[in-house]
Amino acid sequence: MVSKHAQDRVYSQANTNPDDFWGTHAKNVHWHKKPEKTIQKSKKTLKDGVSHDHWTWFPGGEISTTFNCVDRHVRDGKGNNTAIYWDSPVTGAKEQFTYNQLLVEVETLAGVLREEGVKQGDVVLIYMPMIPAALFAMLAIARLGAIHAVVFGGFAPAALAQRIDASRPKAIMTASCGIDGSKAPSGYKKMIEEAVDRSTFKPYKTIIWQRDDLRWDPVLKESGQRNWQRLVKSARNRGLKADAVPVKSEDGLYIIYTSGTTGLPKGVVRTAGGHAVGLNFSIKYLFGIHGPGDVMFTASDIGWVVGHSYIVYAPLLIGATTVLFEGKPVGTPDASTFWRMIEEYKVTTMFTAPTALRAIRREDGENEFFEKTYGERGGLRSLRALFLAGERSEPSIVEMYQKLLKKHCAEGALVVDNWWSSESGSPISGVALSATAGEDFATQQREGPLPIKPGSAGKPMPGFDVQVVDDEGHPVERGQMGNVVMSIPLAPTAFTTLWGDEDRFYRSYLKRFDGRWVDTGDAGMMDNDGYTCPVSIMSRSDDLLNVAAHRFSTGAIEQVITSHPSIAEAAVVGIPDQLKGQLPFAFITLSTHEHPDAAVPEDRLYQEVQKLVRDEIGAIASLGGMIQGRGMIPKTRSGKTLRRVLRELIENATHEQLDKEVGVPSTIEDQEAVEVARAKVKEYFGLKGKGLHMPAEARAKL
Ligand code: AMP
Repeated sequence: MVSKHAQDRVYSQANTNPDDFWGTHAKNVHWHKKPEKTIQKSKKTLKDGVSHDHWTWFPGGEISTTFNCVDRHVRDGKGNNTAIYWDSPVTGAKEQFTYNQLLVEVETLAGVLREEGVKQGDVVLIYMPMIPAALFAMLAIARLGAIHAVVFGGFAPAALAQRIDASRPKAIMTASCGIDGSKAPSGYKKMIEEAVDRSTFKPYKTIIWQRDDLRWDPVLKESGQRNWQRLVKSARNRGLKADAVPVKSEDGLYIIYTSGTTGLPKGVVRTAGGHAVGLNFSIKYLFGIHGPGDVMFTASDIGWVVGHSYIVYAPLLIGATTVLFEGKPVGTPDASTFWRMIEEYKVTTMFTAPTALRAIRREDGENEFFEKTYGERGGLRSLRALFLAGERSEPSIVEMYQKLLKKHCAEGALVVDNWWSSESGSPISGVALSATAGEDFATQQREGPLPIKPGSAGKPMPGFDVQVVDDEGHPVERGQMGNVVMSIPLAPTAFTTLWGDEDRFYRSYLKRFDGRWVDTGDAGMMDNDGYTCPVSIMSRSDDLLNVAAHRFSTGAIEQVITSHPSIAEAAVVGIPDQLKGQLPFAFITLSTHEHPDAAVPEDRLYQEVQKLVRDEIGAIASLGGMIQGRGMIPKTRSGKTLRRVLRELIENATHEQLDKEVGVPSTIEDQEAVEVARAKVKEYFGLKGKGLHMPAEARAKL
């Protein structure tokens, strides 16, 4: 019999005996009070009498995430190691902080926040650019046992106001401006003030990090606005600090908002104990980062879950160095920036989304920067792995980078596609670089990971029992497409509820399969080796879009579009995009009596709709295009928009298969609408489509 690979052994150990497995791994973090149990299973009963399985990781335990990320390393004599490198090509600034320095920053800021009224259990909202102060804020809030809600610094005031109302933060921590790539700094003052104006709940304080690039002026004291640097300076002069406050294992560490199927975002809650144990495990097991000397560069944003887990918490938990980057893959100043970062900071592990690599490929198709500028002089030899997540990685991009890594990076360097979500908190699947760490966490080995299969996102991670099922919840055969689901309990990093909305947790994730499975919202398959190939945004998930690795609700975008006075109806679907994977694409019906015949809307209307989307959601949700027509949006008899039909039509068009059959469910109300839509798509693509809309991946023409 062929002996099992360590990753397979570890997975079965975690599945057959989760108590032992996670109980052992829980010993690798510091507990102010040790847990009484590893896991407690229970039932939750909702207001309407429905009851469902619930679970709690490490009940009875008390923990401080900040203590584990900062104080612990200082206490263990590792205070002189570098915790953070900050590199900001958009401002030209660079800074670095040792763990000793990080502790001083964080305990002082925590003292400030306490003085400003923040207590254990309060929510503090963070709306910040990628600067060290943002990390200090997250860690200082957690230090007080308060809960942070980081909102991506590119969201428009309306989206921010929604998140203020949903999380009811005591305070907002922000900066005077953000800088998006090579664009001029964008002032946050107007954004925040408008958001607070729009929200029903009013935070008491707004603490502002002043940046010289564009100041927040004036700071309105009477409105609760405070100058962050001044508060810290005064605290320093007075020796004001706050110690780490441990919280219960099941208490919230943070809330992260993610798009749901309705206009309102869902507040995913991360619990303190499970998060610390699960992330501390994943950073070593999956990412192969063993601690001091290892340098992780996660090119994401702290507003996303990847940023929370792998810019901030995981590298700091293990005592490694994290690289905080305020720039873009291209344009700051060019497509060589990532590779410069690897050389300059001797990055061992990089993590980004495939969309970033596509942007680089577009500017530097021959990989001159990677090979000629940095690779050939040995500048990239430190790199052991390039992790990709956030959306599907097409095999061509994985293969291209695999070749580049083999030639120019550390021996055995791998490209690792890993699949996960805001809900899971850490990868659900991937290829573990240090699989034996699952059996012996002290090991320094990183030998022989499983082979990489381009197009597959690896195998399930410990604690995530991934299954592919049909619409009735029955497992399908290997190699068949289906709904990707997970059984309860989920791994320790994953959510167990939504902030203040138990009912929605049940409705969004459990109801579909009667509480038997947690629905991931993704469709995909597992092949015969048990490799999962999650494919995002397939049939059922048409209520969600994935733009440059960020999730958006089609419903929310439709809502914004129909707020335009000339638009009666809208259906938004994802159109394949070479750079961003998908872009939102709108089908609209005008409210005018005499509907124009042309499929391409007037330029003015298109610009107005674009502006609405940018203003209400944010520039990253900008439309890829818009088609107008009457009787074009197919519906089911119960009145649900059949976005799937429109998506298939538009996808076929980008593959130049305009006449290809599309799947139409028997519940369709008006079959004719499909043909109207097809004709409109043809007309639109005839006029606009050529070269404008291209998929990232070719597909077989059958
Ligand atoms: P978010 O919660 O915003 O991080 O979005 C999570 C979603 O992104 C998942 O449910 C998938 O649809 C998609 N996703 C993330 N990573 C991958 C991946 N490696 N392959 C395919 N889709 C992915």
